[in-house]
Amino acid sequence: MIEVANVRLSLDDALAKGEARLARAVAKKLGIAKGMVVKAKLVRKSVDARRKSDVHVVVTAAVELANPADEEALLAQNLPGVKRHVPYAPLAIPTLRLAPDALRPIVVGTGPAGLFCALYLARAGLRPIVAERGADVDERTRIVAAFDAGADLDVATNIQFGEGGAGTFSDGKLTCGVKSPFAPHVLRWFVDAGAPREILVDAKPHIGTDLLRGVVRRLREQIVAAGGEVRFNTTVCDVRFLDGRVCAVAFRGPDGAVSWVDADRVVLACGHSARDTFELLRDRGLRLEPKPFSVGVRIEHAQQAVNEAQYGRAAKHPALGAADYKLAVQVPERAGGRQRGVYTFCMCPGGEVVAATSESGQVVVNGMSRHARDGKNANSALLVGVGPEDFGSDDVLAGVAFQRRIERAAFETARAAGGKAYAAPAQRVGDFLAADADGAHAAASAACSASAASGASAGPSDVPVPTYPRGVAWCDLHDCLPPFVTDALADALPLLERRLRGFADPNAVMTGVETRSSSPVRIVREADLQARVGAFDRSSGLFPCGEGAGYAGGIMSAACDGLRVAEALCASIDAAC
Ligand code: FAD
Repeated sequence: MIEVANVRLSLDDALAKGEARLARAVAKKLGIAKGMVVKAKLVRKSVDARRKSDVHVVVTAAVELANPADEEALLAQNLPGVKRHVPYAPLAIPTLRLAPDALRPIVVGTGPAGLFCALYLARAGLRPIVAERGADVDERTRIVAAFDAGADLDVATNIQFGEGGAGTFSDGKLTCGVKSPFAPHVLRWFVDAGAPREILVDAKPHIGTDLLRGVVRRLREQIVAAGGEVRFNTTVCDVRFLDGRVCAVAFRGPDGAVSWVDADRVVLACGHSARDTFELLRDRGLRLEPKPFSVGVRIEHAQQAVNEAQYGRAAKHPALGAADYKLAVQVPERAGGRQRGVYTFCMCPGGEVVAATSESGQVVVNGMSRHARDGKNANSALLVGVGPEDFGSDDVLAGVAFQRRIERAAFETARAAGGKAYAAPAQRVGDFLAADADGAHAAASAACSASAASGASAGPSDVPVPTYPRGVAWCDLHDCLPPFVTDALADALPLLERRLRGFADPNAVMTGVETRSSSPVRIVREADLQARVGAFDRSSGLFPCGEGAGYAGGIMSAACDGLRVAEALCASIDAAC
């Protein structure tokens, strides 16, 4: 079979079932008779909306011609976009036979990094023990729904913590920022666990929170079926080393009792919000480094407005789902010549803003959508890059303290503006820019609450109503974000408007604060993917993994890192044998 890229399909053809239209488009692209194409299978699919008057679909197809010699002849011509089709080959997992008394590897966390790592280890025969501080996905869904409805925050089970990790209540976007050889396997394993098959071909695959919850449950069932064990409501609260090698970890179980388990290999896939775990690791002598991340707000627009801005008159075509966007600009810092990157991140078409704090008395926002992406609003993080020089201290966890200050300020600002506990501070773009221009932020608060309140109730259909579940308090975001962040946001908005019409619409809603875009620390690991402890220059048996360790920035990259670490862990056992 050969693979043919850049095959153009009209929107109507893209909707059609069966292979006939694809085969015809491939034949046209290759300049051959339609009858020569026996089979045409979709390999990749994306929407080309660069020209609004010509929105169409571009696909790559795996093609079988009636005569194999014709395939060879085409390959020999070195045509652009034509190559030999290489079918998917499953990931090769070693089979390791451990002595009956050998220690089982411990995996900390059931985010994508922990789940994929544990599944690999289980399939390799290592019977991993997985510890997850939060509840299983069904219990977690109930706890998150109760919090959204006004219950107290459960600090162990919430949007950040619990089975599936931080991305369970997400859009489930599976775009991978980095090229990883593990990416095709992650997508296959997701499909094997019940994700829609279309993620194998979509250029921008996504699962949606409604389907992702079942997928996460099935990944866990596969781990257990392969010999692993998953303990929920179990926090790894201490770790012991002997001469620089891990020898035991402490589990705090559902009843609060602490028990020690002997261990010689531990995968730390604790995510970016495990602040107590970061402190523990620092105190036990692991090398942590502060790293840059980003802070800002969630911005909400009417999804219909985004569809029209991206797809023009084609916006209502059923072949096109809810449109997304990805924007970035650089702005000069007002005080000083430094440039700040301002960008949109984790855009959720047809989604909702979620209440994503994991600590009491703080407000954090993020976004999610269902598979159908059928909500009225589009939301996205709008973030400003920050670095250790902004954190106000040289402490290795200064980034965490910086996040906490902003998250507490958000909670208090919303309360001061009349919001209930865990209401989020929000402001319409028009009010935010007006407040920024006159510098009279405090006075602006009252004005914007008045104008925004009218929009929130029953305005025209393109005036987005905020979706944050605990309610928003209209106030001035300058009161809870550092000035350099609000400066950068205000300077970036008009530039972003030039990239996407309507982005800086005065009615767009900015809800604060988004502070958990990525990890504020890196847990340093060496070439063997293991950390070093204190002054010991030997493999510690501790494998920092995924986003919390600073080696991933999303579901895909975290899952890929999980597989990479699992491979390294198996290699370390092989080497020891
Ligand atoms: P996590 O997913 O954070 O998992 C870590 C797990 O470890 C948690 O379940 C936690 O409870 C557990 N844990 C922590 N400490 C301990 C301990 N001491 N003992 C036991 N267990 C512990 N990314 C995308 O690519 N696409 C998206 O659409 C997307 N949307 C998102 C929406 C939301 C609301 C959020 C919060 C994040 C979103 N992300 C998205 C980011 C993505 O979820 C993360 O990048 C990814 O989950 C990181 O995976 P991880 O396994 O490294 O860590």
